[in-house]
Amino acid sequence: MRIEESIKLDFKDVLIRPKRSTMASRKDVDITREYEFKWSGRKYNGVPIIAANMDGVGTFDMAKSFIDNDIKASVALHKHYPLEELVKFFDENDPASVWYSIGMVKNDQDKMLEFIKQRPNKIDKICLDVANGYSEHFVEFVKTVREQVPDITIMAGNVVTGEMVEELILAGVDVVKVGIGPGSVCTTRKMTGVGYPQLSAIIECADAAHGLGGLICADGGCTIPGDISKAFGAGADFVMLGGMLAGHDQSEQEVVEKDGEKFVRFYGMSSDTAMTKHKGGVAEYRASEGKTVDVPYKGDVSATMQDILGGIRSTCTYVGARSLKELSKRTTFIRVSQQINEIFGKS
Ligand code: 5GP
Repeated sequence: MRIEESIKLDFKDVLIRPKRSTMASRKDVDITREYEFKWSGRKYNGVPIIAANMDGVGTFDMAKSFIDNDIKASVALHKHYPLEELVKFFDENDPASVWYSIGMVKNDQDKMLEFIKQRPNKIDKICLDVANGYSEHFVEFVKTVREQVPDITIMAGNVVTGEMVEELILAGVDVVKVGIGPGSVCTTRKMTGVGYPQLSAIIECADAAHGLGGLICADGGCTIPGDISKAFGAGADFVMLGGMLAGHDQSEQEVVEKDGEKFVRFYGMSSDTAMTKHKGGVAEYRASEGKTVDVPYKGDVSATMQDILGGIRSTCTYVGARSLKELSKRTTFIRVSQQINEIFGKS
């Protein structure tokens, strides 16, 4: 047994210190990023926010809304759409804003290869999600997929430590997904005791990835726009959102009324709800169960996205960053856990 003594931080433990700025308005801030992916060699240009590959979030309707409203963010489609529907969707919509998701099960892999056979060159980005990004089996799987699709961008995870980020990048991953346990409907920390405070995970993993020319996607734990800014400030190249984008018209879920208030069901992809819905197919998505919650109905997602993007722009003006690219260089975090917890009444 060993105890690691160094302090690890979560979003709630810090604030971003304002800095002198010459910028007149948040409208002047460019929140798009340009990347060239290490292995696929492809270029990315857009707002580096990704709707999570979850039921109620990673939906066709979400992607269509982002495209129609020119929100340059992207959507990782959940992996439960049938092949025919995926083919139709990709035929009718711009794939630039979409990540095609697979798990480590053979069915997913077969479906993807069949898709590529039917529609070569349609998928340019995939999201590879597993229970445990630390398993040797996963690293081997990543290598196999990299060989199968050498010119497709691969995002894969999840892990939370630098050495595993390096291993995945060397195995062929372009973007490593970072986060174990922070998700809003995730119970991994409760069920297994395993996890890592998300802000520190981002800082450490970004450093490891950037050293090898790779990128990271901070996945989970953002509950307010300020958390997303903190994730970018900590060095995240992409930020993935589940709960913040759940409960909208684009969720492809029923809106239910309780005592005059409207709600939409939202659940973890390894929750009982998801497993019942998708049968055996999701059991290996995450090491432990997820939970099911009813989130307040929030209407059209474009209004939420406006809010989120406005928040990030505003962060940039507070620290004098003309673009999102400059944000991490201009970020100084102040540790405030005690005060913040008192303000929000958390223990
Ligand atoms: P959120 O933005 O809601 O805080 O976190 C979204 C992330 O939670 C997803 O992208 C995914 O990595 C993670 N997640 C989704 N469903 C489950 C689940 O059932 N169990 C666990 N442990 N994590 C989940």
